[in-house]
Amino acid sequence: MRFKRVAAVAAAATLALGLSACGGDSDEGTGSGDKNFKAGSTMERLNKAQKIKVGTKIDQPGFGQKGLSGKPEGFDVEIAKLIVKELGIPEDKIEFIETPSKVREDKIVDGSVDLVAATYTINDKRKERIAFAGPYYEAGQNIMVKKDDSSITGPDSFKAGDKKVCSVTGSTPAEEIKKYVKDVGSQLVLFDTYDKCRDALKGGQVDAVTTDNVILLGYIAKDEASFKMAGDNFTKEPYGIGVKKEDTDFRNFINDTLEKAFQDGSWKKAWDNTAGKFGATLGDPPAIDRY
Ligand code: GLU
Repeated sequence: MRFKRVAAVAAAATLALGLSACGGDSDEGTGSGDKNFKAGSTMERLNKAQKIKVGTKIDQPGFGQKGLSGKPEGFDVEIAKLIVKELGIPEDKIEFIETPSKVREDKIVDGSVDLVAATYTINDKRKERIAFAGPYYEAGQNIMVKKDDSSITGPDSFKAGDKKVCSVTGSTPAEEIKKYVKDVGSQLVLFDTYDKCRDALKGGQVDAVTTDNVILLGYIAKDEASFKMAGDNFTKEPYGIGVKKEDTDFRNFINDTLEKAFQDGSWKKAWDNTAGKFGATLGDPPAIDRY
């Protein structure tokens, strides 16, 4: 407390003298909620504003799905809340913004969101435009079919060219499945969100939905009479938190927060209360990639 008061007095003195803060202790910024962040950092800006914009999905049970309160719920949302708490911002000051797969990089780059937690696979192509903290989970691509369908057993089942598969524009599974289909134009159906793919499968317009196993497990858990998984995971999808490309301080801060959550049990608790209920396994905490 004493340090905070001293820092506040020093900041006021700097202002009064019209000097810019430099040298010594002056890179200790001030903040609310018992937090002190580096002056000029994203953490300081958000803490001072006492609000934050978080990009999530709203149609993916277990990870980011709009609940009865109108706010999204799920593992991604809980991970975002751990970060927000560490920033000293109250949970009710989070503005959730839907970020379908295709718009995630755009929304980070143009500043519409401060971070994205949305089943967001870390990869080099995306790293050309944004940066990732994490990973905090590793999923894998899989295929969901109708419960009574035994004709699709894995991605090779699309090679004959007679089956339609649905995925989401701008997602890694939509790209990956192109390697297996005979004719992209007639076999690959793309929507902007996965719930539309699920509806198309249920309605018989497509034969399968492909995306990460944990997203599919969420849909299966909600409608076990209609859907099942077809085969094993065939990719690795490490989930990261998307931030601005140049914001290394914020990325480091999120990485520190994730590592703390891995150790203090809050990561596991977040999982157990959300996606963990739908049959996916959590495993050991993944190694944070501090590139
Ligand atoms: N994890 C994959 C991706 O980031 C698929 C899930 C999604 O579209 O959010 O593209």
